[in-house]
Amino acid sequence: MSLSDIRNRIAAEEERAGRPRGSTGLIAVSKVQPNDRVEEVLEQGHRIFGENRVQEAASKWPEFRSKYDGVELHLLGPLQTNKTRQAVELFDYFHTLDRLKLAKRIAAIRDELGRCPKLFIQVNTGKEDQKAGVLPEETDSFIAACQKLDLPVIGLMCIPPVDEDPSVHFALLRKLAERNGLPELSMGMSGDFEQAIAQGATYVRVGSAIFGERVPTKA
Ligand SMILES: *Cc1c(COP(=O)(O)O)cnc(C)c1O
Repeated sequence: MSLSDIRNRIAAEEERAGRPRGSTGLIAVSKVQPNDRVEEVLEQGHRIFGENRVQEAASKWPEFRSKYDGVELHLLGPLQTNKTRQAVELFDYFHTLDRLKLAKRIAAIRDELGRCPKLFIQVNTGKEDQKAGVLPEETDSFIAACQKLDLPVIGLMCIPPVDEDPSVHFALLRKLAERNGLPELSMGMSGDFEQAIAQGATYVRVGSAIFGERVPTKA
């Protein structure tokens, strides 16, 4: 796969779903990828990237940003409260807001720095113990609590359980977003982004299908 293959598949799925061309944002998930691969994708003109860890992102993106204009950086992994300041400085979007303590910390740093990433609330649609995110039945009240803090919540994000039909989870996420008036849906990865687009994803997060497997492939 390559970036242009993925773009073509996204465009084809948008058409099948009767959605406008270009209505799906493609986040190229560059975590644990060698810098030269990331740079190839930057050279092809792509500017929207996702990382899972604040530390890893801090070690490579300031330099990429000094070489390439217009980079938009999305935090996709869990955020520890004590890394919030660094994350607010580095990222344009957080996809993993999932608890009030973190919401309050983001609001405090926003007040201090006058800058705030756009926020997705992560929903644990499969109610899995090992997964982060608010439960579906807690989502409405958590959104309201974040809005009370004047946080720029723009949408919801989910990672469906590996062994279930992802479409069911995508549809649930969309329902939760719609009834709360949130326009953005971050859902779909390498294995299921077409199903996510069919269910209304406005951002898909694609890593291995663009960059190759994350496991080192040294002979
Ligand atoms: C790693 C990761 C992705 C990308 O996964 P692929 O299967 O490589 O496309 C997307 N979203 C999140 C939250 C991730 O951690």
